[in-house]
Amino acid sequence: MFNSLSDRLTATFKNLRGKGKLTEADVDATVREIRRALLDADVAVPVVREFTAAVKERALGAEVNEALNPAQLIVKIVNTQLQEILGGETRRIRMAKSGPTVIMLAGLQGAGKTTLAGKLGNWLKSQGHRPLLVASDLQRPNAVTQLQVVGDRAGVPVWAPHPGTTSEFDDPTGDPVQVARDGVAHARAKLFDVVIVDTAGRLGVDQALMAQARDIRDAVDPQEVLFVIDAMIGQDAVQTAQAFNEGVDFTGVVLSKLDGDARGGAALSVASVTGKPIMFASTGEGVKDFEQFHPDRMASRILDMGDVLTLIEQAEQNWDRAEAQKMAQKFADQEDFTFDDFLVQMQQLKKMGSMKKLLGMMPGMAGMREQIEAFDESSIGRIEAIIRSMTPHERAAPKILNGSRRARIAKGSGATVSEVNQLMERFMQAQKMMKKMAQGKGIPGMPGGMP
Ligand code: GDP
Repeated sequence: MFNSLSDRLTATFKNLRGKGKLTEADVDATVREIRRALLDADVAVPVVREFTAAVKERALGAEVNEALNPAQLIVKIVNTQLQEILGGETRRIRMAKSGPTVIMLAGLQGAGKTTLAGKLGNWLKSQGHRPLLVASDLQRPNAVTQLQVVGDRAGVPVWAPHPGTTSEFDDPTGDPVQVARDGVAHARAKLFDVVIVDTAGRLGVDQALMAQARDIRDAVDPQEVLFVIDAMIGQDAVQTAQAFNEGVDFTGVVLSKLDGDARGGAALSVASVTGKPIMFASTGEGVKDFEQFHPDRMASRILDMGDVLTLIEQAEQNWDRAEAQKMAQKFADQEDFTFDDFLVQMQQLKKMGSMKKLLGMMPGMAGMREQIEAFDESSIGRIEAIIRSMTPHERAAPKILNGSRRARIAKGSGATVSEVNQLMERFMQAQKMMKKMAQGKGIPGMPGGMP
């Protein structure tokens, strides 16, 4: 996510390290570097201009105080400015005062609307809502079926009275406006509290598309019209966003495909150019690859200051409290940490999503990007296989794992003996750490006995 921009900006700050004070020449050189980094990342020219002018003004006006050295000062200024172009404050969904809240999705074909409908439904469900998806994209072949599939995956019902087209040679039949209207009426009758209306996109902006989107908007009077934009489309993002802003007057932006290797800067310009906030980010094809967008957190992620808050939220959403309590009780009772516990912890971690994504949210990871990219997600599967090849007795009392048992386990799990040995070593470390924690000493190396 914005990796190259992040690398370039953090490299710029490195040049300022060790400087005792900031001269005008330092500021000029730094601002020039920032300008280049933003332009190379595809950030729109007017946005770059405004950004760099503001950074320069603040940097020259700022006093280097004892608390912040010049490098930190520039990071702080750039951070504030980035947060501003990303929309400032976090914008939450506006809910209807009575009756169902209607969220309409708009955007080009392939932007990721249908996929987003499932993610948004899943997320709203986890927040205690009762969402309904409405299939008003009758244009794109199989869009209705696809919505039913993502609805199934998310466990969210779909209103789809019309099958839509199944091939690009079919003429679309059925009235998407009527489907949307009936969908909202159905939601009202059946007490769904949020309705997500998927609409048709085209390959390019065209007037018929815009008119249809407007008709749907007028028929269902949505609280939110979310414009979904593929972060990979580069420079075109700004024009497309402007066309949709004029066409349907959307209320918020969703950046999709942020998991890709896109430079992403154009997508970053969208909020600034349209004056509409980015509300969500889509980061993969899975139903959980989705985040609420927080401008402050994203700015800090881009500047490699990490995004620990999002990390904690994901943990909270996916953590199995009952399991965690069981584990805590075990430690309180001074029971030994076993391979079964190890397995449970790994599965908990896996529920939070890919390790790569989790690592990417930790501070100071910009310099380790290659190692993170090289992280082999399947290694987790291999570890599981090794543990599953142990007998229950071996899992509970790993001390008995001698050479011949290890060889048998390696054979049974398709791993090498050295992989089994490595796992044993890691397990012993974890066991030691757990023991210390149970004795109330906290994680070694962490202050204040943090659990
Ligand atoms: P729509 O035409 O706007 O409804 O777009 P779709 O939801 O059908 O998405 C188009 C393609 O992009 C599909 O193959 C999706 O699986 C894929 N896609 C959607 N969102 C993401 C995302 O955040 N990351 C990635 N990698 N792919 C995505």
